[in-house]
Amino acid sequence: MIHSTPRLRFAPSPTGPLHLGGARTAMYNWAAARALGGTFLLRIEDTDQARSTEASLRIILAGLRWLGIDWDEGPEQGGDYGPYFQMQRLHLYREAADRLLAEGHAYLCYCTPEEIEVGRKELEALKAGFSGYNRRCRSLSSEQRAAFERDGRKPNVRFKMPDARVMQVHDLVRGHVEVNTKELDDWVMLRPDGVPLYNFACVVDDIGMQITHVVRGEEHFLNGIKQRLLFEALGAECPLYAHIPLILNMEGKKLSKRDADTNMLDYRDKGFPAEAVFNYIALLGWGFSGDRDVFTRAEMVGAFKIEGIGKSGSKFDEEKLRWMCGEYVRHWTPAEFVQRARPWLADAVPTAAFTTHAAWLQNALACYQERVAILNELAAKVGWLFADPAMDEAAAKNLVKDPASKQWLAAYAEHLQNSNLPPSWPADRQGVDDVVHLPTKKDATAAACAFWTPSAIEHDCRAFTETLGVKFGHFVHPVRAALTGTDKGPGLFDVLFLLGKDTCVRRLRTAAT
Ligand code: GLU
Repeated sequence: MIHSTPRLRFAPSPTGPLHLGGARTAMYNWAAARALGGTFLLRIEDTDQARSTEASLRIILAGLRWLGIDWDEGPEQGGDYGPYFQMQRLHLYREAADRLLAEGHAYLCYCTPEEIEVGRKELEALKAGFSGYNRRCRSLSSEQRAAFERDGRKPNVRFKMPDARVMQVHDLVRGHVEVNTKELDDWVMLRPDGVPLYNFACVVDDIGMQITHVVRGEEHFLNGIKQRLLFEALGAECPLYAHIPLILNMEGKKLSKRDADTNMLDYRDKGFPAEAVFNYIALLGWGFSGDRDVFTRAEMVGAFKIEGIGKSGSKFDEEKLRWMCGEYVRHWTPAEFVQRARPWLADAVPTAAFTTHAAWLQNALACYQERVAILNELAAKVGWLFADPAMDEAAAKNLVKDPASKQWLAAYAEHLQNSNLPPSWPADRQGVDDVVHLPTKKDATAAACAFWTPSAIEHDCRAFTETLGVKFGHFVHPVRAALTGTDKGPGLFDVLFLLGKDTCVRRLRTAAT
């Protein structure tokens, strides 16, 4: 290897948000740097001044931070190899261009866009297979150059590509590849205003920042060929390259806005857990082990190898991402679930529930931990806990399925009126919610409680249906409809326990009328 310390970079252009592909590129470079015990830096490729914005930069940095991808050098971090913004490095590009001009690797090109187009058409007509820039300015005499200068023309600097060199290159992902340079143009490195083009700035910076490995999208593979030649011309060894396949949609086509959110922060704002999104993105081209898809950042770093990135395009599967989110949500503690869900519940849950009734709320939300994957799904599900719900279609059907249901509800309301159901929220429930953690199949604490726990409620309910002469399985549906307004949700006895006596009795009576 060239340098003893591995140095990798993510080099976004701040012309838009951090999207899925960018996040994956950043992550693989980050993971490789961490796995190799090296340095991961961010370089901001802001030379497209018309499209680069401060807002995009902020969004990219926030997206990376949200995913837990931290950088050792770069914006807001500094470092010994800066500046890390290309527009602050113009003098370095000028110097490198002067050197390449002096050594005959580059030349000044005075052609106007119209002249270039005419030349291109002429080449096309020859049908010789190459129709790029006709290299007219490669062989200008000093008089011709002076004449152009007198005309006020300002030159671009172009790189001289070898005529038809067969390059054997090794890519860490694609393996051995052969490319003939005859298909590649003499490309523009530097504009008259001193602003570099991507390939040029990239190489000057990869040299200056001592980059050892580059992982990036396969759309840069041919750029990599141009860049290798430039490293050679500048007398520097080029980094090891890994060009990774595109992320495709489920049909195997290029991913579009319809298939996935284009801004990673949209996933954040919807309540996709960051660790789950990280984990899912890691799998878009890399595998942890044959039989395990869920792993932590640290486990990824422990196992990551650039050579382990797959050659074929991976498909973005929204359903799998959701499954992954569910996996993470399920494994939080109930307290963590409340804390992480809170930002999405501001409108749906009264503040007091978070403060004076924290144990009750934790029990209530715990019933949903198996039922949500994305945190913004929660608010719409928990309304029945706080206000008498409107009845949805399925619930309304369940309420009238048996002609006697309303009588059962009225009878159950009377029965509960004299029961040991806990008091209804927001009355003080201390001592009840503290000891019962929902969802509960069988709560061992039942005997020790002054109030009925869900197990006790169930026990009582079964006995009640027997005295009523109604099948338990038939009885529960209209009761659930009356209490929650839906046919879904937590276990019915968890529902009764959470709602408490007054609320249950009131809702059962209302539904019975
Ligand atoms: N700014 C380039 C991009 O966003 C960087 C490519 C590279 O990593 O060399 O595609």
